[in-house]
Amino acid sequence: MPWNRWPHARGIRGHMFMDSMATYPWNTHRSRMMSEIRGKNTKPELALRRALHARGFRFRLHSGKVHGRPDLVLPKHGAVVFVHGCFWHRHEGCRYTTTPATRPDFWQAKFDANVARDSAVRTKLLEDGWRVATVWECALRKPEKVSATTDRLAAWLLGGKVGMEIGESDILQSGIVATDWECGC
Ligand code: ZN
Repeated sequence: MPWNRWPHARGIRGHMFMDSMATYPWNTHRSRMMSEIRGKNTKPELALRRALHARGFRFRLHSGKVHGRPDLVLPKHGAVVFVHGCFWHRHEGCRYTTTPATRPDFWQAKFDANVARDSAVRTKLLEDGWRVATVWECALRKPEKVSATTDRLAAWLLGGKVGMEIGESDILQSGIVATDWECGC
């Protein structure tokens, strides 16, 4: 049973909740690895969920009733949110969108398939009348980025725009995460 379907595990209750997950029998190293490969319940996704929940937003997770099983579904706002790993989903121009040196054809075919699938899912969701946001994992790598990204996402959810995308460079350019400018790394 996925952990988010388990009755005791419903809802996000901050760090206490996250810590208690470690005692659940299915939370083995293997299942963590698998969830990272599938891109569900990853650390950045959990951070975004926690921050969004703290701002009063309520959502369903990975709903099978919605095409493409978006990471978050917010029916009240007619919106879905995908949290995409930059490497697997090929975030354009991102420093984490690297390509392994060996077996380039193998990787390229895999990446092309992922990008094509994401695009088809997005098109279908928009046709079905959903608003669609993509949050790239690079925008969730540090607590201050999570906060800035969540602010942006919240503003979009409350606004009327159909699509939105947030990457690390979007929040850096807006100057919200000022310290990153000084760092230069
Ligand atoms: Zn990225």
